[in-house]
Amino acid sequence: MSAIGNIPIPINEPILSYAPGSAERAALQAAIKELAGVVTEIPVVVNGHEHHTNKTVAVTSPQRHQHRLATAHQAPSTLLHDAIDGAAAAQHDWEHWSFADRAAVFLKAADLLSGPWRARMNAATILGQGKTPHQAEIDAACELADFLRFNVHYAERLLHEQPISVPGVWNRLDYRPLEGFVYAITPFNFTAIGGNLPTTPAILGNVVLWKPSTTALLSNWLFYQILREAGLPPRVIQFVPGESAAVTDVLLSDPRLAGIHFTGSTPVFHQLWKGVSERLDQYHAYPRLVGETGGKNFVLAHSSADVEALVTALVRGAFEYQGQKCSAASRCYIPRSLWSRVEARLREEIGKLKVGDPADFSVFVGAVIDSRAFKRLEQVLVAAKADPRVGVIAGGNCNAGEGWFVEPTLLETSDPHHQVMSVEFFGPILAAYVYEDNRWDDVLTLVDSASPYALTGAIFAQERSAIVSADRRLRHAAGNYYVNDKCTGAVVGQQPFGGARASGTNDKAGSILNLYRWVSPRAIKEVGNPPKDWRYPYLE
Ligand code: NAD
Repeated sequence: MSAIGNIPIPINEPILSYAPGSAERAALQAAIKELAGVVTEIPVVVNGHEHHTNKTVAVTSPQRHQHRLATAHQAPSTLLHDAIDGAAAAQHDWEHWSFADRAAVFLKAADLLSGPWRARMNAATILGQGKTPHQAEIDAACELADFLRFNVHYAERLLHEQPISVPGVWNRLDYRPLEGFVYAITPFNFTAIGGNLPTTPAILGNVVLWKPSTTALLSNWLFYQILREAGLPPRVIQFVPGESAAVTDVLLSDPRLAGIHFTGSTPVFHQLWKGVSERLDQYHAYPRLVGETGGKNFVLAHSSADVEALVTALVRGAFEYQGQKCSAASRCYIPRSLWSRVEARLREEIGKLKVGDPADFSVFVGAVIDSRAFKRLEQVLVAAKADPRVGVIAGGNCNAGEGWFVEPTLLETSDPHHQVMSVEFFGPILAAYVYEDNRWDDVLTLVDSASPYALTGAIFAQERSAIVSADRRLRHAAGNYYVNDKCTGAVVGQQPFGGARASGTNDKAGSILNLYRWVSPRAIKEVGNPPKDWRYPYLE
């Protein structure tokens, strides 16, 4: 075909309601039943071949930890070397595919996901990662389809960004992929991030090795099948689940490592950065390091705040998906004049949140992801109960009988520097600090400095002057900042996502900014009629 085709302008995938009697509800219930009734075998996929290795792990359901959903094969080092070699061999062909042909693969994947695969992807996210139907829908169906469509659109815009030319000279920028492979390491908590981190570099012609999180493997494996069905050539994204440290050791030791696309916790990103630094002399080029990491996200209420809006934002922001969103609200600052109302309303609303198996559509809070998370959160609650500086206002209990259940919990502390106000717990625990109304200035300093992170934050105020002062003083306190809204729920194309400080490199997933990290531009100058005399006039 000889044509320069315009990429369809993306729109955000509409969120389905799953209301009683709806077709999507019936389809989702059927898919949950089907996936829950089998033990899925998840292979390592290298060079287009599915490998069953002699090392496997069980993938279980957070809400029913005795329920094995899948058996996942782990990539041994020999296969990882094959995967790197295969990806490297595929790179030349893939980067020379026309952009339209590459784009078509990912646009088709988005359509398969939002169409025939939607119910299965949501069911896998509910069963495997413990999301409610609504949380699964906004993640596995909508956000992932958005990532695919918007990133293709941003890539097209990027390719159009060209330097000026002058008479007799034609200047161009050739957006080459990185030379080597990208290592994508994805977290458990968003199926969409699982799909986004390997596909974004691939859209731009890179080859990728994708190591998914064990606890998100069921949904991530389904998405890999979608990519194959959409026509992704076998070696472009190699699917290499495995033991994190072992996989990382092999991949970081290869001179062809060209980049790391990571989302997860801050300590793991530190390890990756150090691992690259230690091996810096051996790489063909400086690997690009992109990491979106932890947060201790704040909600700051001014005395002019609308209490009902604030309470709703706190309940949703802190407890949806059990507080396991990187953006979840985990510390709040409430003025003394509002505290008794806010406390009473929060206690009341938290008491209404149903905790249980999210396959039951009336449940709002499911189980936390695994035993490690459960034990960490249990320790926080035990310590809080024994600490005279902390009061437990709501929740505070946990139960690991059937699933990894932790109650939505509200703590209050009199110490604004207490670890409940500074450490990321990554669970349904919200800590509150009550400040004196006349200490607004001090509370702004506190919000800005209490934790090392700077991911998301929200201010609730109706007085404009409070919004103005907070905007200035909290400019570096959050990469995603909300005024009179909860601090979660960023939408691709609308609120590019990421934070600075200990929250990551702030390369803004879901925006054109992220794409710049996966290209190595070549400037080409072409001259129509080159000079044929080396002497300049001034020499005469
Ligand atoms: P995690 O750091 O435990 O794991 C993330 C990924 O890294 C997984 O694939 C895991 O297997 C892998 N990993 C673990 N140890 C490793 C090692 N030594 N070398 C290489 N890889 C290793 O994080 P998680 O529990 O999956 O996710 C929760 C964390 O992610 C939270 O801190 C949360 O704030 C953060 N997060 C941040 C964002 C963001 O955009 N900023 C988004 C989602 C999650």
